[in-house]
Amino acid sequence: MGQAARTTKLLLDLARRDQGGANTHKRRCLQATGTVLNAARRFYLEFLLAHPEKLLERVEVISKQTGEVKEALISADKLLTWAEFQTVETEAHPDPLLEWNFTRAFPDFPNRYRRSVIKDCIGKARGYLTALHSWQQSGKKKGQPGVPTASNHPTLYAGTYSLELDEMDMRQSFVRLKVYTGSQWEWVHYPTRYNRYFEQRRAEAGWEQGSPKLILGKRMAAIHFVQTKTITAQKIVASKRDPDLVTVAVDLNVKQLAVITVRQHGKIIQTRFVSDQGLDAHRYGHLRRVAKKQWQSGRPIKGERSNRQLWGHIRRQNRDVAHKTARAIVEVCEQYSGCVLLFERLRTIHAKGGSTSRRLNRKQANQLKGNINQLAKEKAYAASIVSAEVNPHGTSQYCARCGSRGVRFTFQAGQRITGKGGKLFFCPTCHYECHADFNASCNVHHSFFREYHWQPRVKPSG
Ligand SMILES: [Zn+2]
Repeated sequence: MGQAARTTKLLLDLARRDQGGANTHKRRCLQATGTVLNAARRFYLEFLLAHPEKLLERVEVISKQTGEVKEALISADKLLTWAEFQTVETEAHPDPLLEWNFTRAFPDFPNRYRRSVIKDCIGKARGYLTALHSWQQSGKKKGQPGVPTASNHPTLYAGTYSLELDEMDMRQSFVRLKVYTGSQWEWVHYPTRYNRYFEQRRAEAGWEQGSPKLILGKRMAAIHFVQTKTITAQKIVASKRDPDLVTVAVDLNVKQLAVITVRQHGKIIQTRFVSDQGLDAHRYGHLRRVAKKQWQSGRPIKGERSNRQLWGHIRRQNRDVAHKTARAIVEVCEQYSGCVLLFERLRTIHAKGGSTSRRLNRKQANQLKGNINQLAKEKAYAASIVSAEVNPHGTSQYCARCGSRGVRFTFQAGQRITGKGGKLFFCPTCHYECHADFNASCNVHHSFFREYHWQPRVKPSG
């Protein structure tokens, strides 16, 4: 039994005013909220770093399962309670530490927001202390971890915030949020990019709702709804003993993004090719432009970004295609309940040789493969389908029918040209000819069942 988790995002509408976006006051409020959160984070980070002994305190914990008493690092929840006790003024506890009075410094700061900030800072302060400790242990002179301060760790303060919201007032296209106006905290209505797909996904049966989070970025603001689902699926080892087991193998490539083959009783019963619809060539065109501009502008300046819109476009296209391909894979799996999804273990490929644009494009294609693999596994798991990774050794060189070594070839002007980049596969032993990616996909099944001599060990995962 396991758990699948996913996030459904609802963007706040920060488009232009005449297109229904939030007005300037509302935008300013979001900015002011970011600023005040920064200040609060700085406060707590300084407070926590001033008490390192508490952060690394060892306490006795009783194990829930065995009842054993052990010594362990103090939990984040206990630290949170402790930090609140030291810094927050309440009626029951009117005098916190004098120099660390959060209530005086930040009047009316919402409790939920404060807790999010403290939790965030606990993680960061502990990370720093652990790094410092291991540096001291190592006895090295160089590389002392810097104290996280506003100047040397801008990412600690700027960047994204995630705030847990305790109450959510959602009215279709508006959402009510507590934000800082610059002088006080107020409830403000924000327009959202609400749509029926969002509602469909949020209301889907079988998914449990977690508490929503407000994510504040530099140019965006969104509410993330976390959903979880309990999954019951058979273990791979148990499935493998089933003689009627259906295996779905996927071979990931560049032009044919995925070649999906389904096998049962030793026969391929279904095949699906997912083409990239010319994405690779399209992306190559863009990257040629990027490479040319990089060449013209010379050495890049540190911290400065170039070709932002173009990279954004490429990123969005890749993400879209990755989701669609992953979806196509899972759709095939869903036709066979209890099937096992098989992937080759991805190799780390370093793009080398060729022009800059070609290298950039190879790199993008490799990343896309990784994304498809990752997304397909997640989507499949949410549909109670387990996946396994097989050894990729030899899947593209050997014949899927007889197991001997074959060659790749392609047709050019009616001539057979044998070469490494060939689209087609030919086996000189049994004279089998087919699409090379199809052959590789079939070999993934063989690799899972270890049917041929050239396949060494299999390392299942998940
Ligand atoms: Zn053969």
